Amino acid sequence: MLTTPEVITSIDELRSRLASARERAVPGDARIVLVPTMGALHAGHLTLVRRARSRGDIVVVSIFVNPLQFGAGEDLNTYPRTLDADVAALAAEGVDFVFAPTSQVMYPAGAASTRVTAGAVGALYEGAARPGHFDGMLTVVAKLFNIVGPDLAVFGQKDAQQVFLVERMLADLDFRLALEIVPIVREEGGLALSSRNRNLDPAQRLAARSLSAGLDAAASAAPQGVAAALAAAHARIDVQPLVKLDYLVVVDPRTFLPVGADHVGPARMLVAALVGNTRLIDNVALDIP
Ligand code: AMP
Repeated sequence: MLTTPEVITSIDELRSRLASARERAVPGDARIVLVPTMGALHAGHLTLVRRARSRGDIVVVSIFVNPLQFGAGEDLNTYPRTLDADVAALAAEGVDFVFAPTSQVMYPAGAASTRVTAGAVGALYEGAARPGHFDGMLTVVAKLFNIVGPDLAVFGQKDAQQVFLVERMLADLDFRLALEIVPIVREEGGLALSSRNRNLDPAQRLAARSLSAGLDAAASAAPQGVAAALAAAHARIDVQPLVKLDYLVVVDPRTFLPVGADHVGPARMLVAALVGNTRLIDNVALDIP
């Protein structure tokens, strides 16, 4: 029988619960799997949680809207917060612990003065539009890794630049855990699920489909090269008056830097746009032969 996961708000309490759960599960050898989220959970998040459940003995889902990764004028205060519904959804997935700290618990001094810096790639794409976003994201992810001590953490491919930067942080700072990346979960019509989609009105939601349609078209055009892939995506997206494109770029998955026109091999196309006031991102793997 599934029971409601314990919602824990204190770091010390979470650590002591995890220590005893570890002993109870498989003494000395239980795998802890962490799924970091900002809540307002949707089917994409729950896919990550199911993956975590299948990989570990003890599943922890963190829910924390991290102020450090929001810039001035961004949607920190209006970001959807639905803790009760989130906990109910997580109960149905057999999650063991929900870690839902307050900002005061995570940043007792107001803000961490020691931070992880994301480096040059952290200033591109999402980082160019949202200065400091990735430093804030990596700082909270590092804190969550240190608090929970997971053997495995599960992230979504939806946030491709985040995945790249977290992988690099693990290597650069010698974290001892594995990552597992879950493919993007989409609604019918292609729009990538996002907590921010609930801010879209019906017309905006329809227009937002042009992002995934553009990426699809790019993947089909990829055999003709980078320029053809970009042109195919632009042809779908630029015709939508409700969609204000921020960037559309093809990057090398090894460096996350933009590829040249003559690039061959694996690549990833990234897109970001404003639909009304809602910032949406998406991406797709390209194979350029
Ligand atoms: P967030 O709550 O937006 O910070 O997302 C928490 C985790 O869920 C991140 O690893 C995201 O990449 C992942 N995620 C969010 N939306 C999706 C989606 N549509 N498909 C797959 N993963 C997702």
